[in-house]
Amino acid sequence: MTLPFSAERVSRAVLLAHPAGHSLSPAMHDAAFEALGLDGRYEAWDVPSAGLAGALDGIRSSSVLLGANVSVPHKEAVVALLDELTPAARRLGAVNTIVRRGRTLLGDNTDAYGFAAAMAELERPPGPGRALVLGAGGAARAAVAALLAVGSSVLVYNRDPARAAALVADWQCEGELGVVDAVGLRDAALRADWLVNATTVGMQGGPPGSPLPAGMLPAAGAVMDLVYRPRPTPLLAAARAAGLPIQDGVAMLVHQGAAAFLAWTGHQPPLEVMRAAVEGALAAGEPSPPSLPS
Ligand code: NAP
Repeated sequence: MTLPFSAERVSRAVLLAHPAGHSLSPAMHDAAFEALGLDGRYEAWDVPSAGLAGALDGIRSSSVLLGANVSVPHKEAVVALLDELTPAARRLGAVNTIVRRGRTLLGDNTDAYGFAAAMAELERPPGPGRALVLGAGGAARAAVAALLAVGSSVLVYNRDPARAAALVADWQCEGELGVVDAVGLRDAALRADWLVNATTVGMQGGPPGSPLPAGMLPAAGAVMDLVYRPRPTPLLAAARAAGLPIQDGVAMLVHQGAAAFLAWTGHQPPLEVMRAAVEGALAAGEPSPPSLPS
């Protein structure tokens, strides 16, 4: 295949996504390469599903590509196309990071790590306690995995209850994990030490509003929203007004990216440089995400 970049001897990492133009990862990783004085560059490749296998072949046969990030819609589909998986990727059934070792492509998943690191950054982190996770997609799986790992008991609520039930069925034996329905939602939210929005609701270009009805918040728990555009999200604005500790998706984005950077380069990632690059790009309002179907 022809690689979509000019053939310079610069180490590169790429994003495989469709669409890819709205990603903050190029700004974040380019800032990291520059801060460490590394001759590296990060490029967003817009790869539709039909081109995924070809893009991976291109990475395998390249001598300059360190690896890749993988995002929507390829995180699960890419699993079957890789040579090896880390335990984290196998557990989540999804890959967000690929590391090239010679012609071998190793699939990893740094999202649960990123979520756990974001939890730890909160100024007043509650203990593991009870968690309510909204959503049952890939981000919700990463959050649930991280919460179970620290010993939280976790309830999952999703618009499509069958998807929540499938998530719970996969990991039920690994900790206290269950589904909550619309009737039990208010009580679960009120009692939550951790409330996590892992849906696309409230995301710029996504379904508008808050993922929970007005007034439905923890009595005293922390509220995390994996969405990072707009800032604050409607859920976090309500939580902040209620005096609750909040965390948006930037911290998780930066930490999952830092773990990928370490895996590609072997260099300790300059976390605050990466965070500042993301904050700067968000403040500049670019690049904007496309509209999502609700
Ligand atoms: P996904 O697999 O497509 O899952 C989307 C989730 O949103 C599903 O639970 C879906 O419910 C729910 N949803 C969509 N529209 C809805 C609506 N109108 N009402 C209620 N629920 C709705 O997506 P994902 O990869 O998990 O990503 C979820 C969010 O996390 C996105 O906003 C993404 O940007 C963010 N994220 C952030 C990071 C980070 O580093 N900060 C990392 C990964 C993802 P159904 O199952 O019922 O459709």
